[in-house]
Amino acid sequence: MKSQLWQIFIKAFFPTRCLICRKFYHYQAPAGSSEPFAVNLGAFICPVCAGKITFIKSPLCLLCGAPFENQEGEDHVCGKCLTNSRKFGKARSLGAYDLTLKAAILSLKYQGKTRLAGPLGKLLWQSLLQYWDYASIDLIIPVPLHPKRFRSRGFNQAYLLIQEWQFIKKNHGIDSRKLIVDTDILIRQKYTLPQTGLKQKERQSNVRNAFKIVNSVNLKGKTILLVDDVFTTGATVNECAGILLKGGAENVDVLTLARSII
Ligand SMILES: [Zn+2]
Ligand SMILES: [Zn+2]
Repeated sequence: MKSQLWQIFIKAFFPTRCLICRKFYHYQAPAGSSEPFAVNLGAFICPVCAGKITFIKSPLCLLCGAPFENQEGEDHVCGKCLTNSRKFGKARSLGAYDLTLKAAILSLKYQGKTRLAGPLGKLLWQSLLQYWDYASIDLIIPVPLHPKRFRSRGFNQAYLLIQEWQFIKKNHGIDSRKLIVDTDILIRQKYTLPQTGLKQKERQSNVRNAFKIVNSVNLKGKTILLVDDVFTTGATVNECAGILLKGGAENVDVLTLARSII
């Protein structure tokens, strides 16, 4: 009783400030939720901003996951995938890189709002279950940062997104030998320019030979899921997929939080 009154007091006098629009709102944790407060996106983002996440839906490209403008019809391979070689098997994203999702990713990466990573990662987990049979995935590899960028940022946002998956995995009773997060096999050896502002061909040459496999022993015959924050032209994940396949991986798919719609 005492703690309920305390909760009412806290909520009345200390409303939550939305990390996106900066407006105050009252956050109500879902009833009966046993999960930690911080897991819910609603604890950081107001309902108005949360409503401005553009979730990606079918019809979309079977390979790169780009949604088609025409909302009629079935999933099929897009024109870009028909003309460009894709090393990865398929790529999927939770939402479009616009409005709330874009603002959330930028705050996470550049303003140190790392507390968004847990709830965003939880949404990303839903995308994993939506598009894959999780039992088919052996390894999950977050796209690595160059050590220099890692030092200046202090974290790898792709890794932060999946950091809590081991707990979710346990709660779902998933085989501990599946969906193993590995941050040692693939490293970024070349310090590259940020891909922002570069055209597709420039992006491809910017990341060429940027990655290296350190230990391919655990790679042979494995099905891998690469995870990153944003998919723009796919140049980075394509380069990673190519090198992982050369190192003996059976198949490499890609999951990103957001995707540029171009
Ligand atoms: Zn808001
Ligand atoms: Zn495509």
